Amino acid sequence: MIDRCAFGPKPLLTVDEALARIRSAIDPIQETETVPLTAALGRILARPVYAAANVPGDNNAAMDGYAFASHEVASGHAVALRCAGVSWAGRPYQGLLAAGECVRIFTGAVVPKPADSVLMQEQVRVDGPWVHFPAQVKAKQNVRMAGEDVRQGGLVCTYPKTLTPIGLSLLAAAGIAEVPVLRPLKIAFFSTGDELVAIGEALATGQIYDSNRYLLAGLLADNAYTVIDGGVIADDKDELEAKLTDASRYSDAIITTGGASVGEADYIREILQRCGQVDFWKIAMKPGKPLAFGKIGASYFFGLPGNPGAVFATFQHLVVPALRQLAGLSAKQPLRVRATCSSALKKAPGRQEFQAGILSQDAAGEFFVGSAGQQGSHLLAALHKANCHIVLPSECQGVQLGEQVIVEPFSVFI
Ligand code: AMP
Ligand code: MG
Repeated sequence: MIDRCAFGPKPLLTVDEALARIRSAIDPIQETETVPLTAALGRILARPVYAAANVPGDNNAAMDGYAFASHEVASGHAVALRCAGVSWAGRPYQGLLAAGECVRIFTGAVVPKPADSVLMQEQVRVDGPWVHFPAQVKAKQNVRMAGEDVRQGGLVCTYPKTLTPIGLSLLAAAGIAEVPVLRPLKIAFFSTGDELVAIGEALATGQIYDSNRYLLAGLLADNAYTVIDGGVIADDKDELEAKLTDASRYSDAIITTGGASVGEADYIREILQRCGQVDFWKIAMKPGKPLAFGKIGASYFFGLPGNPGAVFATFQHLVVPALRQLAGLSAKQPLRVRATCSSALKKAPGRQEFQAGILSQDAAGEFFVGSAGQQGSHLLAALHKANCHIVLPSECQGVQLGEQVIVEPFSVFI
């Protein structure tokens, strides 16, 4: 079995070559804006953020118990200290501890000077004002030190970095109310094809619903992007040229699906050539061979294939790295793991393949993967069951049961 699609007068670009071409073509956006933390989730931090003060601001208790100075217990014998008051979280004990004193303290409360330790309440015996400490109490325990998380003047968040709930929480802990972020990337997307009908309308023979629109809208849902749904464009050269040229005026990137192949009604490459520049338009990958990449005006153009499985594969493996770079993020590899194949996989040499797989992990932590069902760039059902792509190199001629393969999960939940 050979992959007839892989051979032609010119060798196709490999996926890695296509990625390298994309990487060298894309200039990240530079414009920044300042947003409040409440609007910063998923945005990309544009500059480093430094701490104006220590986090935490004071030495504070890690436990509910009694704060004391370690020299009070230095003898190693049991001692009784007089409880001088209480230090609550948010309401510190006022003043200093005198010799022979301790204070009742709760988690997060300031440890009053010269105390430097907290003993858990379960380890003392309280008798009126007297708190009996056992022998051999360890010094400097159960205290969280000022500046332990972030030092005053130290780096709170590096950049460029997507702001996650943890990042926002860290910025909030440092009292930072607003952050400089890269402006959102403006992305216009279109479905192309005379056969496409919007859901809700009746289908005539040969028509299909525009399902790619929902696939792309979902894949593009990201707070770092402003997405413009351009709707359907017919297989009409003038309409394609007019709409794509117009989109290049208001977007940083344009994504189309359909019309990227070599059929009589596939005009994408020709239109890209006419109103912009083609960088490449064919890749040795399956699904997803026809993928046109180039520029229209200042806008980057991705002409994806029409079949939904190919839309998903090309989006994940080529468009995502491109958009991340354009949005200002540094290059990162998606997570890939090695798994034992629990079903035989058919594959012809010639193109890198992304097959829909079901990844699982056993109790010992070993990964296993099997086919998610009938593979085909036009088929969505197996892809919907799948939780990963099985990544098969170009030269692979099929996989036997029990062989090791590389797998790229769609999410961390499998
Ligand atoms: P094309 O690249 O235009 O030849 O399209 C390849 C296949 O994908 C054809 O079977 C199309 O009908 C199908 N297709 C194209 N656009 C869409 C779309 N928006 N939603 C679902 N299928 C599509
Ligand atoms: Mg078409």
